[in-house]
Amino acid sequence: MAKIKTNEKLSNFRQKDKGSTMSEVRPRVDKPILSIAPDVKHRLPGVPLSDLRKVADHASKMLVNVRESMLAPHPRKKSPTFTTSQIAALCRIDRKKVIYSWDKPELALPPGTATNRTREFTLAEAREWIAKLGPFKKRPTRVKGKKIAIGNFKGGVSKTTTAMTLAQGLSLYGRRVLLIDLDPQASLTALTGILADSEVEEDQTVLPLVYGDQDSVRYAIKPTYWDGIDLISASAALFGAEFYLPFKQSKDPSFEFWNVLNKGLEPILGDYDAVIIDTPPALSYMTINAFMAADALVVPTPPSALDYASSTQFWNLFADLADNMKGLVPDVELKRFDFIHVLLSKVDSNLASTHAVRDWINRTYESFVLPIEIPTTTVTASAAAEFGTVYDISKYEGSNRTYQRAREAYDRFAEMIDQEIVALWEAEKEATDGD
Ligand code: ADP
Ligand code: MG
Repeated sequence: MAKIKTNEKLSNFRQKDKGSTMSEVRPRVDKPILSIAPDVKHRLPGVPLSDLRKVADHASKMLVNVRESMLAPHPRKKSPTFTTSQIAALCRIDRKKVIYSWDKPELALPPGTATNRTREFTLAEAREWIAKLGPFKKRPTRVKGKKIAIGNFKGGVSKTTTAMTLAQGLSLYGRRVLLIDLDPQASLTALTGILADSEVEEDQTVLPLVYGDQDSVRYAIKPTYWDGIDLISASAALFGAEFYLPFKQSKDPSFEFWNVLNKGLEPILGDYDAVIIDTPPALSYMTINAFMAADALVVPTPPSALDYASSTQFWNLFADLADNMKGLVPDVELKRFDFIHVLLSKVDSNLASTHAVRDWINRTYESFVLPIEIPTTTVTASAAAEFGTVYDISKYEGSNRTYQRAREAYDRFAEMIDQEIVALWEAEKEATDGD
C-alpha cells in the first residue's frame, strides 16, 4: 500500500513550486507602496514595514549560527558515579559490608576504582552490586515486563521528567527499562543526550512499525548513556503517524490503528522489567496507541487551578475515547489497567493556592491520587538546563537539603511503582503456575 509520509508530501509541494520563480509571484515595485512625506516619516510611532526585513535578515543569520552549534559534536552525557556509602544505601546494606565484600573473590563484585582514600563505582558497577546484594525480588522467568504510559493532554505538567526519573529510579532497583518517546517534540530523547533534529533517523523511531515495515520495535532500540535504560527515540517525523494511521484505517477496515504499538512491543517484553512510554500533550493517534498498549497509566498533575481544569478535560476526552473504542473493538471491555495513578507534580507548598487545589484533586480523583507528591525544585530546574534530572547529579552545588528533598520524592515514587510491579509479577506467576 502506498504510504503517506510527511516528507514525501512536502517534496511534492516543492516539485510543484519549481516552475515558478519569486519574480513571477512578486509584483515589481518601482515606487514605494506607501508614499508618506519624508518629514512625516520619522515622526510616526511604531515599527515601520521596512524594519521587518532587518529582523528577517537577522533571524536568518541567527538560525545559521544556532543550527551550526546544534549540529556540532557535543559532549555525550555521562552517568553519575557512586561512593561506597551510596553503594551501601542502594543495596540497603551497611557500608562495612560493602568494604568487606569487595575483596571476596567468590562474590565476584566489581571492585570500583580506588581514589584517594576511598573507591568510586560506575553506574554499571553499582547496578551489578544492586543485582547481587540488593533485597529486590527479580522478575520471574516467563513473566513479561510491565508497560507504563505517562499521559496528560496538557504540556509542561512533568510527563517527560516523570518518565525519565521513573526509569532512572527503577534502574537503581536493578531493573532493565525501555523508554519510548512518542512525542514529536522529542524532549525525552533530549534528556538522554540525543538531539532529535540532527541525530535521529526515522528508523530509530516507531515509524517503520507504524508504516508496517516492521512487526517488532526491536529495530529501533538503542542503549543510552544510562546502564539499564534503552531508548526508542522520537523526532518531528513522528507527525507522519498522525496522517498515516487514519489513512490506512480508511483503506483497510481490518487494520487496527490502536493496536500497532501493542503488537510491536509484544516480542520484546521478555527483555525488560518495565517499558515506560512518554506521550505528546494531545489525544493523538500515537497517544491512543500508548494508552491501549499500556498495563498502567500515570497522570502527572500539578496542583494549580489551570492544570486542574485541563486535567478534567483529559479525563473527559479519555472517557470519550473509551466509549468510541467500544464501537470499533468488540472486546475493549476486556481492556484493564493494572493501575491508574494521578501523581501530584511540581508541587509548590509555598503557594497558598496549592493546598486548595490539592484538596480539589483529592476529592475529584480519590483513590487514583498517589500518596506521594513531587515538589517543585530548583534541582530539577538547574539539571534541566543541562538536559538532566535529579538522578544525573553526582554532587549538587546547591544546598544538600534541597537536593535530598527532591531526590527522596523521586525515590519514593519509583519505589512505590516498583513494589506494585513486583506484586503484579507475583500474581501473574501464581496464575500461570496454577494453570
Ligand atoms: P511535559 O513532558 O509534561 O511537557 P516536562 O517534564 O517537560 O513536562 O516538564 C516541563 C518543565 O517543568 C521542564 O522545564 C521541567 O524541567 C520542569 N519541571 C518538571 N518537574 C519539575 C519539578 N519537580 N520542579 C521544577 N521543575 C520541574
Ligand atoms: Mg513532554
